[in-house]
Amino acid sequence: MSPGESQIAATRLAKLRQTLAGSDLDAIIITQPENRRYLSGFTGTRGVLFISPERAILAVPFVYLEQAKKQASVFEVVRFQKEFAEVWPDLVAEVDARRVAFESAHLTVAEHGKLAAGAKGAELVPMEGIVEGLRAIKERGELDIIRKAVALADAAFAHIVEFIEPGMTEREVAWELEVYMRTHGAEKVAFDLIVGAGPNGALPHHQVSERVIGTGEPIVMDLGARVAGYHSDLTRTICLGRPDERFTEVYDLVLRAQLAAEAVIRGGLVAGEADNAARQIITEAGYGEQYGHGLGHGVGLAVHEKPVIRQGSEEVLKPGMVFTVEPGIYLPDWGGVRIEDMVLVQEDGVEVLSRAGKEPVIIK
Ligand code: ZN
Ligand code: ZN
Repeated sequence: MSPGESQIAATRLAKLRQTLAGSDLDAIIITQPENRRYLSGFTGTRGVLFISPERAILAVPFVYLEQAKKQASVFEVVRFQKEFAEVWPDLVAEVDARRVAFESAHLTVAEHGKLAAGAKGAELVPMEGIVEGLRAIKERGELDIIRKAVALADAAFAHIVEFIEPGMTEREVAWELEVYMRTHGAEKVAFDLIVGAGPNGALPHHQVSERVIGTGEPIVMDLGARVAGYHSDLTRTICLGRPDERFTEVYDLVLRAQLAAEAVIRGGLVAGEADNAARQIITEAGYGEQYGHGLGHGVGLAVHEKPVIRQGSEEVLKPGMVFTVEPGIYLPDWGGVRIEDMVLVQEDGVEVLSRAGKEPVIIK
């Protein structure tokens, strides 16, 4: 870990402790992988953080010992044989903790049982979302990395527009996208890429099949890269050759809805209002029932994280949040149109990070 990185970890730790200080908690256990990485810098797949006002401990199995010492320099690294429950009773005793928070969405019942048995009278308090709340506001260094991941997805899309031909299968196109990103700087793809042609595009989470791509049908492509742990998420819908009238109507509507949402997003806006801006346009055109998901989701160390932008959400958008704006319309037997950008919330508006073109018709 470089001095800059340990400074970042120290600042994040301080923020978490500030939150703890305002509560009646004496310590907190972090088991969620992205939260563990965010706070400590440790990228291994096993390990538990134990954080009190005075102590910051990362417990790992033997195979991660050296890596943990290198990456998590602001943490004391301790070793366990099989599981955290072995070292936990001593930790509780050493900091004299009475109330210890744990991440209720990321501890199994079995793990909880073992901790409860070794708690030496300390109470285990379930909690959710504390670190996720910190992660929702991106720091400058995080934004630099996210911009790289976004640019890679944009470049992959530009490449695929040149590459794609009628007669190729969804799978061939998805593989070309993947190879492009991985040979241009992605450590991996952000998720299983989606290429859905014709009716397959009507399934928002369709991945890829051997379906042959034809002319005149909608092709939904949802792609993203991972760079230094951070993700991008981009969807574009295109049509090879002349589209039918329905494509033009639906595409224009989805684009109008997306631009309307991007026009209202700013610091201080309630997330539900951002969702409304797009949903209203689609609903008024009679396609409300065919738009069955929320407007977007935060993106960072996880592809889906805070904030969640959906109908009725009262979460207040804050400068530094990064999330997707991705309205869509899905018509069974015909296909779908979804257009997805990543945006950065600012005090007085929004910066659209995704720059991939939105001209859908490709005549070759
Ligand atoms: Zn996506
Ligand atoms: Zn998305």
